Amino acid sequence: MSYLFPTYARWGIEPDTAIGMKVTSTAGKEYLDFTSGIGVLNLGHCHETVKMAVTEQLNKYWHVSNMFQSSIQERTAKMLADASGLSQVFFANSGAEANEAAIKLARKATGKSKIVTCQQSFHGRTFATMAATGQEKIKSGFGPMLECFEYVPFNDDDAMMAAIDESTAAVMIEIVQGEGGIHVIHQSYLDTIQSHCKKYGTLLIIDEIQTGIGRTGKPFAFQHYNVQPDIITSAKGLGNGLPIGAMIGREKLSEHFNPGSHGSTFGGNPVSVSAAEAVLTEIFNPVFLKETVNKAEYLKNALANALKDAEEVKEIRGLGMMIGIECEQDVQEFLAELQEEGILVLSAGPKVIRLLPSLTVTESEIDRAVRKIEKIFSIKQTI
Ligand SMILES: *Cc1c(COP(=O)(O)O)cnc(C)c1O
Repeated sequence: MSYLFPTYARWGIEPDTAIGMKVTSTAGKEYLDFTSGIGVLNLGHCHETVKMAVTEQLNKYWHVSNMFQSSIQERTAKMLADASGLSQVFFANSGAEANEAAIKLARKATGKSKIVTCQQSFHGRTFATMAATGQEKIKSGFGPMLECFEYVPFNDDDAMMAAIDESTAAVMIEIVQGEGGIHVIHQSYLDTIQSHCKKYGTLLIIDEIQTGIGRTGKPFAFQHYNVQPDIITSAKGLGNGLPIGAMIGREKLSEHFNPGSHGSTFGGNPVSVSAAEAVLTEIFNPVFLKETVNKAEYLKNALANALKDAEEVKEIRGLGMMIGIECEQDVQEFLAELQEEGILVLSAGPKVIRLLPSLTVTESEIDRAVRKIEKIFSIKQTI
């Protein structure tokens, strides 16, 4: 029997070691990891530069509390601010905590309470972020929910327009719905949100927890669009596997997060922040981002080519290294078959296969994975 609460439907694989894109199981089987720990290992497993930065910090000190000055937090915050065009950073330990901070700040700064989010969105598992999440299955049995959240269909301009009013503190959105099935936002939707936010003094929060840190080929995915958020949130890829989240906001919001208003014992932990500093130095390099864009294009084209005759495939979509293959049927069986073939992928909802490779993936690793994906679909067709 297991002593763990069964909150996760675990695979029958236990990793022994992992490096780059390769995971070796305790059973001695090798896997090509196209999950990156759910969009976390943007630089791959056990990345050398990150390891060095973390080791150096481990040899200095591990934790002192936020009562002390921290130049490593300052340096890393500046990198996040410069890359996003925003100004102030609050460090948390996870995505949900970063969103929690954003929701608290938006309510305090505006003096309003309604938060508008999208159907099929995912923002986390704490009470506020669960309430923000537009999926019933996430909330089932945990009611009553935190009040004043309203949900609108994704990319429906009229519904969004109708939802924003004088009582709206913030709109919280994803640029690509990750858990919700890899749905990419439209510019017109962002235009509608921006103009209505301006009209009613509503803040725009963009949840970049899965889309950020180079995942789509830009530092943050909103940078593919003409849009200026007031707050963005980051986590997942930020620490390349060390737990860290960040809320990044406009300078004028600073006064509302005054001493004593919000905090976290572990938030900005120097070991995690040292990982983040190394990650941002690597990924926010324009050459690295350019390569990411090229390889993402290569992956998408290879998939489109390999799967053009696959009857089960409805659509291949995504942005950068965040790709969804929507199928006609439930994809769990495909995931299991790919594991047999030594390829690890995720799902996003029942019918979408989700690929989130490390941004360091090579073209030959892409070729190998695509061949296997092609194989499992063609096997199906010959039955
Ligand atoms: C994963 C995720 C979260 C939650 O992050 P945790 O670190 O699991 O709390 C929130 N928003 C989005 C878009 C995510 O993908």
